[in-house]
Amino acid sequence: MPVFEFRCQECGYKFDLMISNADKEKVQCPECGTRSIKQLLSSFNTAKFGGAPANDCAGCKVNGSGG
Ligand SMILES: [Zn+2]
Repeated sequence: MPVFEFRCQECGYKFDLMISNADKEKVQCPECGTRSIKQLLSSFNTAKFGGAPANDCAGCKVNGSGG
């Protein structure tokens, strides 16, 4: 089950819960008990993947012994 991070809109309390996606709408703040909860985006899901950088480098060539 995924872990979601929430923050209370009323008191600002931050907490995370391991609930199913359907249970997110009935989350209450453990501090003040309000339903005004905002879900935070998890940061571990933003891993970047890709290939090699494709920038042209004019001076990347190793300089040999010029004359
Ligand atoms: Zn609260």
